[in-house]
Amino acid sequence: MLAKQAVVIGAGLAGMMAARVAADHFDSVILVERDQVAGPDPRKGVPQGNHIHVLWSVGSAILENLFPGLFEELAAAGAVGFDNSADMRWYQGGVWKLRMESGLRICSQSRPLLEHKVRQILQTHDNVSFQRGSIDQLIIQNHKVCGVKLASSGGLDSEIRADLVIDASGRGSRLPDWLVEHGYSRPKTIEVGVNLRYASRLYERQEGLDWASMAIYARPPLSKKSGVIFPIEGNRWIVTFGGCFDEHPATDEAGYLDFARSLGKPDIYDAIVNARPVSEISGFQFPKEVWRRYDKLRDLPAGLAVIGDAFCSFNPLYGQGVTVAALEAVALGNCLRSNASLHSYYRSAMRIIRNPWMMATGNDLLYPEASGERAFWTKPMGRYTDHVLRLSATNPTVFKGFLDVLHLAKPPSHLFRPDILAAVLLSPRESHSSD
Ligand SMILES: Cc1cc2nc3c(=O)[nH]c(=O)nc-3n(C[C@H](O)[C@H](O)[C@H](O)COP(=O)(O)OP(=O)(O)OC[C@H]3O[C@@H](n4cnc5c(N)ncnc54)[C@H](O)[C@@H]3O)c2cc1C
Repeated sequence: MLAKQAVVIGAGLAGMMAARVAADHFDSVILVERDQVAGPDPRKGVPQGNHIHVLWSVGSAILENLFPGLFEELAAAGAVGFDNSADMRWYQGGVWKLRMESGLRICSQSRPLLEHKVRQILQTHDNVSFQRGSIDQLIIQNHKVCGVKLASSGGLDSEIRADLVIDASGRGSRLPDWLVEHGYSRPKTIEVGVNLRYASRLYERQEGLDWASMAIYARPPLSKKSGVIFPIEGNRWIVTFGGCFDEHPATDEAGYLDFARSLGKPDIYDAIVNARPVSEISGFQFPKEVWRRYDKLRDLPAGLAVIGDAFCSFNPLYGQGVTVAALEAVALGNCLRSNASLHSYYRSAMRIIRNPWMMATGNDLLYPEASGERAFWTKPMGRYTDHVLRLSATNPTVFKGFLDVLHLAKPPSHLFRPDILAAVLLSPRESHSSD
């Protein structure tokens, strides 16, 4: 009798979390990754690795659960832990937020280090293996996925048999095309165009400051520029700027600093202007947020799951991607445990995605330049959120409520809890004017 085998396409974070949960239910799990992966270094298949990767508390808790000891390993490698409000200078909605103990810890490290440590722990599972290769089609028989085909190397086609195939190949996933080639429907997509660009650089970390991290955020629809400083391993800062539509950060020295100077507040510029850069400036273009509605497809072949950015790719400014992928991995594990049909996984994933999607796109659609369908609540919700953000400067309860939603620990409806609603309704009416 053949052993039960799962294949995961792509060994990014979503792929490795999916492999970890599949390892509890399959005799063998193979992660197929087209990049050569070795140490904690940026790589071609994950260009976002050069940029800030914040990890919200819900994502951290799931990662620690799936990969016990991960955060001790990260700390030993130089990752920096800090409180998300007490240790952070954070300007958003035209105000500096309160500095208070929130109990919500951030573990801050580079994305390549996070991926590397996850990979090392995953490799201790005897039934998980990594294989280098690029998958370029599914094998489907009798309405069931039963393997994958690898792109030919040296004229040789090869195949891997599988009882479950998990697409974790990221936002460039070609799964919709593969499905169409097999006669299935392409998933409908929802897209919100933001034309975002990132520019990031590493600096030597400055000592003796009263903050660990700093953020200055755009205030839709008034301003489009954001910047953050996060501490990472190697006693460094990662400094990422993001600007949407016509206000992009440049990747040359002078333009990069000009962008820093032009943020709503000069504090990030002041912090980096005399700091020592220790890397080149890396850029990244993110044209649009995309949700491929696999959850709505009725005719998917059996034995196929989709996770992470391949399913839904969020505006990276909100730092949701890894936490959403972690929640999806938990949902996939639950589905495999209960031996339920994968339709139940897709339904759970839809419920996981819809709140962060609404939060991210709801904010982005406040810009008139953003392409995408606006709901009747987009503008009123934007005004309400702006009040919440402004109250984060003075009201600890409202600020904590906002943080819980941001960390995906609570749904957005939490912001309408009676005490938060009352604080918002009683706060002075403020037009969308920046400070
Ligand atoms: C600029 C930027 C900044 C971000 N910042 C944050 C942040 O602060 N916080 C956060 O939570 N999220 C952030 N994200 C999102 C986050 O990176 C992803 O949501 C998360 O890493 C999950 O991605 P993934 O594993 O699904 O895909 P990816 O990380 O893209 O990995 C896909 C993998 O699949 C491989 N692959 C692709 N095709 C094939 C194939 N055919 N065969 C074999 N292998 C293949 C690739 O080489 C790659 O290794 C950011 C994204 C971007 C673009």
